[in-house]
Amino acid sequence: MLSAPSIDAFNPPRRTLMGPGPSDVYPEVLAAQARPTIGHLDPLFVAMMDELKVLIQYAFQTKNEMTLAVSAPGSAGMETCFVNLVEAGEKVIVCRNGVFGERMRQNVERVGATAVVVDNEWGEAVSPSDVEATLKAHPDAKFVAFVHAETSTGALSDAKTLCALAKQYDCLSIVDAVTSVGGVELRVDEWGIDAIYAGSQKCLSCVPGLSPVSFSPAAVDKIKSRATPVQSWFLDQTLVMGYWSGSTDNSAKRSYHHTAPVNALYALHESLRLLANEGLEAAWQRHADMHQVLKQGLEGLGLKFVVEEACRLPQLNAVYIPEGIDDAAVRKQLLENYNLEIGAGLGALAGKAWRIGLMGFGARRENVALCLGALEEVLN
Ligand SMILES: *Cc1c(COP(=O)(O)O)cnc(C)c1O
Repeated sequence: MLSAPSIDAFNPPRRTLMGPGPSDVYPEVLAAQARPTIGHLDPLFVAMMDELKVLIQYAFQTKNEMTLAVSAPGSAGMETCFVNLVEAGEKVIVCRNGVFGERMRQNVERVGATAVVVDNEWGEAVSPSDVEATLKAHPDAKFVAFVHAETSTGALSDAKTLCALAKQYDCLSIVDAVTSVGGVELRVDEWGIDAIYAGSQKCLSCVPGLSPVSFSPAAVDKIKSRATPVQSWFLDQTLVMGYWSGSTDNSAKRSYHHTAPVNALYALHESLRLLANEGLEAAWQRHADMHQVLKQGLEGLGLKFVVEEACRLPQLNAVYIPEGIDDAAVRKQLLENYNLEIGAGLGALAGKAWRIGLMGFGARRENVALCLGALEEVLN
């Protein structure tokens, strides 16, 4: 028998999270998560899930019936979209301008489908004209997949135009909105997005580990007309919907699929409620305003942005590390002396850039001031 380890309770320090996620969590969200756990088929919990669906629909600006939170992080939301919609042998146009577009490509290949990759430089937006040329060259393509807000670089792509192109060429669109939802304009129904996934831990400022997703009626038809069952039992939306779709009046109809992460869903409910109280457009504006303040300060310190202004995300600010500065040492000092986390560069930008997040609850004046003050001191 192993002897019982003697380990103290884990008490993390209070950090200010200004990296690419997780972001600072709203205090109300942490409080919500600490409320009593009740049964996941308890009528009160079922009613909470119904409200949660309405709140997700609001955040996405959609009336899609198939709207829910996957019980796993953003990466699982990505996988949910690909394994449900795409079948082996189908062709998917995948736009790649950073880390997450590459992950989409890997998802497509693992399904046994063919990925036709449209590459754009890291730090650039996806080029609609490149996508259109690719659609023309591949009339048998069934999907266009792209990342709305590429967190690895801080570039925003034109989702409205890309989805319109997809539709024009009879393709369904699959959109990664993990970093965009709540931070920049996003209109699922108006823009004709067919499948979308987000994450709880970026601009929603909820705890990590949940992925809101939504599927248009056309996407639902595609799922229903599959020739083969979805190879993932857990992520199969036709099964999960049986769990999410029983309404309050007929909660008896709600069938067990898996045990929902009850307390994490309280947290998501609270974060989306806070977003609805603020109002989506006000939240988008707050991110834009705080970005302007941060940008002025960063430029005042002589730092240069990776992404050009026209397609720069307010919530993810990638700046080049100045010549002769030790990347890891700066981030270590920020963490140890200021309890401040900023993000390292990822992929092609590893060691070359820092990524400063202004996400959700983190997009506020105190955070901007702390970050600029700390960077100024450490860089000098
Ligand atoms: C963070 C992120 C993901 C993955 O989300 P996890 O919660 O880390 O699994 C996917 N896409 C983008 C654009 C992201 O920023």
